[in-house]
Amino acid sequence: MAGTVLLTGSSGFIAKQVALKLLNAGYAVRGTLRRMDRADEVRAALAPYLTETAGTLGFVQADLEDDTGWAEAMQGVTALVHTASPFPIAQPKDPATVIRPAVEGTERVLKAAAAAGVTRVVLTSSTVAVLNEAKPDTLQDEADWCDVHLPTTTPYAKSKTLAERAAWEIAKARGLRLTTINPGLVLGPPLDENYGSSLALIERFLKGKDPMLPPMGLPVVDVRDVAEMHLRALQRPETEGRRYLAASGSMAFVDMGRTLKAAYPTRRIPAREAPKAVFRILALFDPDIRSILPKLGHLERVSNVRAVGEMEMEFIAPKAALLAAADWLVRHGKVWS
Ligand code: NAP
Repeated sequence: MAGTVLLTGSSGFIAKQVALKLLNAGYAVRGTLRRMDRADEVRAALAPYLTETAGTLGFVQADLEDDTGWAEAMQGVTALVHTASPFPIAQPKDPATVIRPAVEGTERVLKAAAAAGVTRVVLTSSTVAVLNEAKPDTLQDEADWCDVHLPTTTPYAKSKTLAERAAWEIAKARGLRLTTINPGLVLGPPLDENYGSSLALIERFLKGKDPMLPPMGLPVVDVRDVAEMHLRALQRPETEGRRYLAASGSMAFVDMGRTLKAAYPTRRIPAREAPKAVFRILALFDPDIRSILPKLGHLERVSNVRAVGEMEMEFIAPKAALLAAADWLVRHGKVWS
């Protein structure tokens, strides 16, 4: 028996793929939802891909901002996979709306796990909790941390960094065996139409919303690989106490545009970079653009050596992850053709 995993935020883009991997590996999965009326939607998303020997799937109601339900949710659980966290499309006006649920939610969930004797924990963190803007052109790895004191650090990056730091502190204080998975931009195919903010960038490309692109780039990973890493973390005790970057490589926005343009030549897809000066002017009026100014002219890069070496990951290439996301969006009529 593989055991029972409490999976937080089971309605999420990444969490549904994690649920699928866990169920098909024989784990029973208890997913948390903010609203129980979404249980059927999650079941329906997973059903076509479940094998005959899949574990059982159930749901409990719990919110990151409320104590109610967490103690009961932990009963009989052998491991916790904590993915739930706000993932906004745009940076919020009030940073606390993202930071508070992420940080206090992580504290709440990990303390509930410790109180119930659930000591094995896998946390979905992010490359934004790793990438340090003070050294933009270097290949960064699991020893690096985002500097939350820089004025340009976004509320989302702060939320993930502070939440991960809180998790490591609680793990140390309460004897939890913690592994973090730190994905870059997660692409690849969603399991249903509720795919959060992750594919918003690709929708934007395919809708031809922007005439030109910012000169920047970031680490990319396929959602199926991110899910596989959560599973392998649970299956391999040697991953306890360690962070794992989830990225198959980095792509400049202009390379994403060119790749998509080559695949969909009749669409109006941006495939040229705009000069930095354009974004400096736009940033005067738009706080979202202001937040990318330090990234202009840089390709963010992280090492996947640990994931490849210790988890034996064979990552789906960035271009394939991008094209799989685009293919899904086009086939499901999510972008004008
Ligand atoms: P998503 O589809 O928006 O999923 C987020 C999940 O968190 C949803 O299930 C959401 O529930 C839940 N959630 C948000 N606020 C909550 C609250 N107050 N109480 C309870 N649940 C709450 O986003 P995702 O892309 O799958 O992201 C999952 C995790 O991966 C997050 O921790 C995110 O920071 C991390 N991550 C994502 C990416 C990426 O590119 N997608 C990259 C790196 C890291 P509802 O469905 O009810 O809103």
